[in-house]
Order: sequence, then structure tokens, then C-alpha cells
Amino acid sequence: MKVLVVGGGGREHALAWKIAQSKRVDTVFVAPGNAGTATETGLPIENVDLKDSDTAGLVAYAKANDVGLTVVGPEAPLTAGLVDALQAEGLRAFGPSKAAAELEGSKVFCKDLLRHADVPSGDYKTFRHQEDAVTYLEEREDEPVVVKADGLAAGKGVIVCDTRRQALDAVERIAGAKEFGSAGDRLIIEERLNGHEASVLAITDGRSIITLPPAQDHKPAHDGDTGPNTGGMGAYCPTPLVDAALLERVEEQVLVPTVHHMKRARRPFRGVLYAGLMITKQGPKVLEYNVRLGDPECQPLLMRLKSDIVDLLEATVDGRLDELGGLEWDPRPAVCVVMASEGYPGDYEKGHVIRGLEEAAKLPDVKVFHAGTKLIDGSVVNTGGRVLGVTALGDTISAAKLGAYKGVKCIRWQGAWCRKDISDKALGY
Ligand code: ATP
Repeated sequence: MKVLVVGGGGREHALAWKIAQSKRVDTVFVAPGNAGTATETGLPIENVDLKDSDTAGLVAYAKANDVGLTVVGPEAPLTAGLVDALQAEGLRAFGPSKAAAELEGSKVFCKDLLRHADVPSGDYKTFRHQEDAVTYLEEREDEPVVVKADGLAAGKGVIVCDTRRQALDAVERIAGAKEFGSAGDRLIIEERLNGHEASVLAITDGRSIITLPPAQDHKPAHDGDTGPNTGGMGAYCPTPLVDAALLERVEEQVLVPTVHHMKRARRPFRGVLYAGLMITKQGPKVLEYNVRLGDPECQPLLMRLKSDIVDLLEATVDGRLDELGGLEWDPRPAVCVVMASEGYPGDYEKGHVIRGLEEAAKLPDVKVFHAGTKLIDGSVVNTGGRVLGVTALGDTISAAKLGAYKGVKCIRWQGAWCRKDISDKALGY
């Protein structure tokens, strides 16, 4: 079978790498892919020069090239309806429909669904008009809140506030200055939750659920969770923050009611349901839902997955996940360290040649997944903010961390940097 992976980040490199290892797959096309998918030796992976926003082009490509399954990585094409467009042409596609992807595309839709489904989450109120939000903030106590633009804003539309003054500024940025455009047509003011964050991802066909081992992302740019938020500077899996009993609670109180309510709302959810959770003293509470694999959580997860991923993807698409049985995992933990360009998450430096990739590739149990890279005249150069996800397996989390940083040490380009403490949080749980 031929498989098309849509996207060009670290998640899509990891997906293509894993899918290409399936005995049932002849070729994996990646649109647009990156230098990692262009240079993956020994695996049948080919880049296709199509953007993930080019719905018509991707549908035409899948049709013309006899693609048996398309796997959509990022949220933007999912919320734009790429899966619906492929299915309308009789093509098989992994990922939620546009209607189901609203769970990530609209925070108001998500919060309302959570409230109806009685899923634990922060208390909130929705506003259409700036004046109403301002009045609400002025009338309530000066407590920490989180102000969120309704739509997708590349991780920047969520503003965590300590004081009323900061919350009023956030409301002005979203609803007054329209910093996030129409994503800010509605906004949410939400109770600020305290605790530790975890990512629990599940695969569902709309009826059955397979929960994946819990992972932990590191969103702030700098060590000790300081600095501005990023797309994620590293992740590890499994995290001891979520033990078996807590994972069961997440399934019962969060995932099952969500899938059930999506079905009742006539938006059956098929694909990856990713719960961003705050583990509070009262238990797990949902911060957000994503409708795709997390990047970078995907990299350590797929490094540990031993089962054939194509069986899992197809069973989901065909609505027969209950027939699959469980998944097999490498018992060893995995750690992924993201290497970024100078300046990221602000404006960053591009176009530098990356060296040492061959050396890193020789390390045992280490895999370098590419994100913002491109192959130019035979050299790999950085073209994005997050550039590589150096991922390693180890007997313990500390050993996996050591392996990942050994990989990092091999690699250099002008301005390259990374956090030094990925997975250290695990030692405190
Ligand atoms: P965008 O939709 O703009 O892409 P996002 O989906 O990345 O943003 P979230 O993951 O919802 O945004 O929030 C980003 C971070 O903000 C969370 O990881 C968490 O640290 C913090 N956060 C969000 N909601 C709350 C809350 N209610 N209490 C405390 N922290 C929160």
C-alpha cells in the first residue's frame, strides 16, 4: 500500500519513519516533508512538493498515485476539512472530520462540550464583546485567570495572567487590537488551574478508545520552565506523573465522556484525541483538546511503539478498533530533546548548514527526527524555529535523557540551542 503523510514537522518525520517500517507499505509520500524525510536511508520515503494547506492538490495527488491511506499530521488541514475532502473522493484518511476537529479549532466549542459532558475542567465564561469581558473582570475578585482567543493562534492565543491588570491587557490584545485576527472574535476567561501538566493521547474510531502511555511536554523556552511559551522544547514518555490508576481515571472521566458526547453531537471523532491535562489536587482537569498527535510527544511515543502502526491507523479509519487488541510498547522510556534556531520562539536565524547528523545517527537507540530543515544543494540547513527532535530510548528516564543529549552533542549549527533539563521533572514525581 502507498501512504501519504501530510505535514513537514518532527511529528510527520516520526510518522513517516514508523509507517515506512510496516511490511504492508511500499511507499510513504510526505507532503511537504523536510530534510529528514528526504534523506531517510533504507526506508521507502519520498517527499512531495505540496503544502499541507493545498487541499485540492493533496486530493488530486492521492487519487493519481493510488494512495491507500492519507494520514494528516497538523491541526490546520484537519480544521480546514482535508479529511472530509479526501473522503468525498472515496479516499481513506486518518484524522477527524472538520466538524470533529472543532474540538481544537474552537476553544468555546471545546469548553461547552466539556461542560455538557461533565468532564473536569476550569470554570469559564465566554465573551463576544470587549466591554462585557472588561466588566466581568472588574466585578470579580482580582484572581489569576487565563484569557484565551477562541480560534487557532499557533499557541500564542492563550495568555496566562497573575493579576486583573494583566487580564485586562490580554482582553485588549485579543478583542481590542485583534492581535489574533478572527481567532479572537470570541474569547474565554477561564479559572487558572494549579498543578503539573501531562499529555494523555488516545486513538479512537468514535466508539472504542485505545489510550497511549502518558507523556509530558516542555512548553516554556528555558530550563526550569521559564521564558516564553514555544511549540514544545522536548517531551518524554511514559511520565510517572500519571500512574495506572490516574490513567484509568482520565479514561473514565475525560476520554470516554468526550468521545460519547462528540457522537451525540453528531460529530463522531475518529483519530487522535489528545487531552492536555492539569493534574490538580482535585484530580485531572482538561486544559485543552488537540485533535492530532502532539509534537514533540509523538516522537518518544512512536519510538516506543512496537506494533505495526498501519494496523492501528487502518482499524481506526475503518471503525474496527475493538478488533485490534492492545498495542505493544517497548518497556523502555524515551526522551526527545528539541534543538532550536537562534532567536526562537521570536524571529529566528535560518539557512545555516547543520553538521554532525551522521555521527548522531551512529549512536545506539538514538533517532534524530527533523522538523524545520531542508535539503539545499546536498546540505541540510535549518529553515524553521524548531529544527530537530533528538530522541533516545534508555533503561530508565535518566538513561534515555543521557542518550538524547549524547545525540545533541554530536550536532551543531550556528546559533543552535536546546533546553538542558528535558525529563528532569520526572525525578520529582
Ligand atoms: P493555541 O490555541 O493558541 O494554539 P494552545 O492550544 O497551545 O494555544 P493551550 O495548550 O490551551 O494553548 O494552553 C497553553 C498553555 O497555557 C498550557 O499548556 C498551560 O500551561 C496554560 N494554560 C491553559 N489553560 C490554563 C488554565 N486554565 N490554568 C492554568 N494554565 C493554563
